[in-house]
Amino acid sequence: MNAIAVLTSGGDAPGMNAAIRAVTRMAIERGAKVYGSKHGYHGLIDNALIPLELRDVGGIMQHGGTFLGSARAPEFRTVEGRQKALEHLSALGIEGLVVIGGNGSQTGASSFNDMGFPVIGVASTIDNDLIGSDITIGVDTALNIALEGIDRLKVTASSHRRAFLVEVMGRDCGYLALNAAIAGGAEGAVIPEIETKPEEVVAELQQSYERGKTNGIIVVAEGAKHGCDELMSYCRTHPEIGFELRAVTLGHVQRGGAPTAYDRLLATRLGANAAERLLGGEHGCVVGMIRGRETATPYSEVVGRTKGVDPKLFELANILSK
Ligand code: ATP
Repeated sequence: MNAIAVLTSGGDAPGMNAAIRAVTRMAIERGAKVYGSKHGYHGLIDNALIPLELRDVGGIMQHGGTFLGSARAPEFRTVEGRQKALEHLSALGIEGLVVIGGNGSQTGASSFNDMGFPVIGVASTIDNDLIGSDITIGVDTALNIALEGIDRLKVTASSHRRAFLVEVMGRDCGYLALNAAIAGGAEGAVIPEIETKPEEVVAELQQSYERGKTNGIIVVAEGAKHGCDELMSYCRTHPEIGFELRAVTLGHVQRGGAPTAYDRLLATRLGANAAERLLGGEHGCVVGMIRGRETATPYSEVVGRTKGVDPKLFELANILSK
């Protein structure tokens, strides 16, 4: 392969820049030319492909987000959209593509690979719901930011004997909420995978108050069946909780942080490995970290499936919150 392209797609994740840098520098080291596609699949469809040289990817690793831009590109879901992308790539002599992104992005990548264009994925999403990597790029940073928020809320909550419902990201996946709850010593986690009824939240907070706790923290994933607003309205009508109640949404704050050392290293290793594999003739797979090793998992095992949360961790969170 003489030239490859790289893009970041779907929700941005801290560490994506380190992955772009690693793909670019490894590919150049192996003698290939590299192009970056602006705003995910949009760049392929609109022919917004820019050459990337060694210096172009300097000074980006310490920043969250992605300097290539990311996007959701509905046109790429159509054969016509992907056909346009193929034409633009072949006009530039590009023979392979690295897609840095989560479930949706890897599904698109798989369809493109099925059309005969060699694609390799890099596991990147703060949700950590992608099969093929024990942990995905961005999770560690997002988790640490959530944790910082929870730690601070605990300090102020204790001064006033308050309880906080803290909403964190996770549309379909409770990984961040559950792990932030465990690491932050929260009283409960409300996640999409396991239903927690509003009356259970009331009971948890009331018992915590009666046990003499000075604060109560319930971490709620944005996609939970009974979300933060509903829980807040319900809890307000239950003064027996004892704590004074507040709600905080961390939301996109979680995405914006400087990537942790862990995310930079993970993204660097996965990006470099993906570039090496692609240039070595491998494609049709996602590169992730499994048991400490860069591992390629075929798209057939990744697409259409998600990695759920471990129910044992949920149980652990409940035991330790006493
Ligand atoms: P995250 O979960 O971290 O937000 P993601 O990669 O799952 O990221 P999505 O919004 O699901 O993000 O998908 C990103 C883009 O991937 C879509 O806008 C679309 O361009 C492409 N894509 C998703 N599904 C398909 C599909 N079935 N066929 C072709 N392209 C797809």
